[in-house]
Amino acid sequence: MEKKVYELKIDPDLRDLIPPLSEEEYNMLEDSIVRDGCDTPLIVWNGVIVDGHNRYEICRKHNVPFACDEKEFADKDTAMFWMLEHQLARRNLNSYQRSELALKFEPMLKREAKKRSMAGKPLDPPQNSAGGSSTGETREKIARIAGVSRDTIAKVKKIDANADDETKQQLRSGKKSIHMAYTDLMNKEHEGETRVCECCGKEKPFSEFRIASKSTEYRTICKDCEDNAKKAAKEAEKAASLPGPASVTGIGIRDGQTAHISTGLPDDPAMFDHVVDLLRHSQNAYLASFEATLNQYRPSMVTPEHNDLIRQMIDYIADTTEELLDKHIEEVK
Ligand SMILES: [Zn+2]
Repeated sequence: MEKKVYELKIDPDLRDLIPPLSEEEYNMLEDSIVRDGCDTPLIVWNGVIVDGHNRYEICRKHNVPFACDEKEFADKDTAMFWMLEHQLARRNLNSYQRSELALKFEPMLKREAKKRSMAGKPLDPPQNSAGGSSTGETREKIARIAGVSRDTIAKVKKIDANADDETKQQLRSGKKSIHMAYTDLMNKEHEGETRVCECCGKEKPFSEFRIASKSTEYRTICKDCEDNAKKAAKEAEKAASLPGPASVTGIGIRDGQTAHISTGLPDDPAMFDHVVDLLRHSQNAYLASFEATLNQYRPSMVTPEHNDLIRQMIDYIADTTEELLDKHIEEVK
């Protein structure tokens, strides 16, 4: 086809389907067309532009001739699908832009799924007529087209319906993440509402709970408890990697515990100092572990009955250690 400045038709549905170029991208394209001419033919269907809206605008503005490539599509939906695939493959779009683009095809995908289920099995009971599983199937397809997870598609859908234009611009330019924008929306939606943390039992506003990046729902444990659990896990890991406290000659102390005494201390009154050291160590280790455990005894759990139960345990420990001492004195006598 001969290169010239053609007069083509613009279908706003087709033009607005694709995210516009950034100012920088547009200027680069304009410079290159003015400098080198337009090499890539525009894709046209029945005189309507399918691909090349920006090039058309630039070529008309500067009077640069271009070629057209006439394509055959069964209908507008098919032409739109072609555009989608073409754009996703060619443009450098982030996951929000890809999801946004892919979501524009949801009505078409739904129509197609309905057509397929009606044409395919006319005598079968209409399993998908309620829309349940066909909606899931459509969502799955959109996620695949966009190359993101189904949760991400669900988040983008909510953002598209509820977020302001500024947020959408930040998402398109990559200044804000989908997860962040979604969390902001959810916090606004649940403003004034509270939930009880499963860990500390405190009633807190929803904004005090995180949404997992691979979920669309709030966690059941509050941010504070989540952070505390992470900190405790880190500390335990650190403590486990440290060497045990000072060892006593002849007796090893490993991982903060008195090690199995394979060779006993010599039976000498002077050795009693070591025994006291070991007992003191074992006492400190016990108290440290008791204190750490008590930190898990959270305000909402505290009742007179629970306090009593813990006191009984303390008494039991005192009684039992005394019994052990008595038994030992009896044995060595
Ligand atoms: Zn909590």
